[in-house]
Amino acid sequence: MRPLIVIANWKLNGNLKSNQDWVQVVCRGMEKGMPAGRKYVVCPPFPYLAQCADLIQNCSAAFLSLGAQDVSRHETGAFTGEVSAAMLKEFACAYVIVGHSERRQMHGESDGLIAEKALQALDHGVTPVICVGETADERNSGREVEIVRSQVAKLVSVLQDRLADCLIAYEPVWAIGTGKVASAQVAQDMHRVIRLQLAEFDEDVASHVGILYGGSVKPDNAVELFAMPDIDGGLIGGASLDPQEFLAICQA
Ligand code: PEP
Repeated sequence: MRPLIVIANWKLNGNLKSNQDWVQVVCRGMEKGMPAGRKYVVCPPFPYLAQCADLIQNCSAAFLSLGAQDVSRHETGAFTGEVSAAMLKEFACAYVIVGHSERRQMHGESDGLIAEKALQALDHGVTPVICVGETADERNSGREVEIVRSQVAKLVSVLQDRLADCLIAYEPVWAIGTGKVASAQVAQDMHRVIRLQLAEFDEDVASHVGILYGGSVKPDNAVELFAMPDIDGGLIGGASLDPQEFLAICQA
């Protein structure tokens, strides 16, 4: 059985005070009891990892883990502004998001670079959450399956059976931050496409890999999405900034 995983991606949001309030509200909510067999992760901006690691450590509900929003493909060296997987590990990061569409679009990240970042994370015991997904134009021209399959093909060719230790997040770009959530069936259909593609490589890998949905998930649509057989949780942007909304999604 694959566990259900819900990940909060704060993006470029947060400050010392609001982070503290957020973790306190979420921890108190989780201490009241959460559905069994689930995992929850919060991904703050880099400067707040140490603060959030401390806050989470003081939370008696051992449900919440820490993640980062990006990682360098390099181990160490002259790469100004980059943060390595080893550094993330030192700050208790168990997960890292790679290949988010905002990084693909605004920073020109390629499938090859994203796969290299995932390898770095794996080499340091950090689970990569690798984002894939088509744009509105690609879906409107009927190319969504071709696009997502080509993104997944690169991951398979570089990561091979190490994919079993990764998470994949299907995030249709047209649904991110737009309020236009994919219907549960549309999301399930693409998750199935991804799982079948992984099975073409290795059935064991396909059955192990958690495939999360991301794109305008809210408490009221999470129940239906998470009930789908190939949807193993969610990557939550906007709605994760409000701790009560995030909690409600975690309980969905
Ligand atoms: C995201 O940024 O990964 C995301 C899914 O954002 P939102 O939930 O705001 O659509």
